[in-house]
Amino acid sequence: MRDRLLPWLVPAIVTLTVVPASSQVTIPLTVTVSPDRATLGDTLAIVVNAAEQPTVEVAGKALPVFSIGPQQWRAFVATTPLQPAGRRSLVVRAGNETRNMFLWVGDRSFPVQRIWLPPGKDSSGTDFEFDRVEAFKALVTPEKLWRGAFRRPNSGPVTTPYGVRRYYNGVFARDYFHRGVDYAGPKGSPVVAAQRGRVALVGRESQGFLIHGNTVGIDHGQGVLTIYLHLDQIRVQEGQMVEAGQVIGTVGNTGASTGPHLHWGLYVNGECVDPRSWLDQGWQ
Ligand SMILES: [Zn+2]
Repeated sequence: MRDRLLPWLVPAIVTLTVVPASSQVTIPLTVTVSPDRATLGDTLAIVVNAAEQPTVEVAGKALPVFSIGPQQWRAFVATTPLQPAGRRSLVVRAGNETRNMFLWVGDRSFPVQRIWLPPGKDSSGTDFEFDRVEAFKALVTPEKLWRGAFRRPNSGPVTTPYGVRRYYNGVFARDYFHRGVDYAGPKGSPVVAAQRGRVALVGRESQGFLIHGNTVGIDHGQGVLTIYLHLDQIRVQEGQMVEAGQVIGTVGNTGASTGPHLHWGLYVNGECVDPRSWLDQGWQ
């Protein structure tokens, strides 16, 4: 029985696999934006289905676009408290098709701190640390290394949330917002990689990281980075791959820090975003 059926089955299977590959069906350009209701600090994902690699422009600026599946691409839009809320133009092009759309980013109020500094008190860092941190934040590498939701990097309570604005001596600091989340884990408590990635920055207070303190930066790929500041010990080396949850160091009080805590920042395309959506459900 089996022998008699086989000659029929084999050509059928061959035909089925050959037809879709050779017909080159052109899929229409479709664009999906999520989440529906974003506010300042959120990350938006522009997912594009198209027959060829699209370009994505938001407010006239081209964004990095990466393949996330067959005929599917994605661009992230990073928003921050310093940007204006409201409508932004979105233009997606693939081949000779164009979609002209709009994004809406709602306003959000962030907590405010009032800091009083004695005159002349100024803690300045070194060019060395700022140059290295800036170079890290500019990384956009093509391979997606993270898988699923991000983890909180330390189990201590959150003492300063993302986006806090400040007045210094009564003057609003227009360019300042808290670029990350502070976790007040005790000194020596473990700091773990929030997701899988490659260690792209290790900086030490002894080398001139006077503001950031002992620092680790992880590249998760496709413009997504996390940075860990004020560490006590560092347990990884530059270039090393780390898994989600792997211990990369311990909470400390190095650099410009007034008590043991972890400052953790998540950057997308060079902008510091609110990590909440990355922690809740992540992006596939
Ligand atoms: Zn902080």
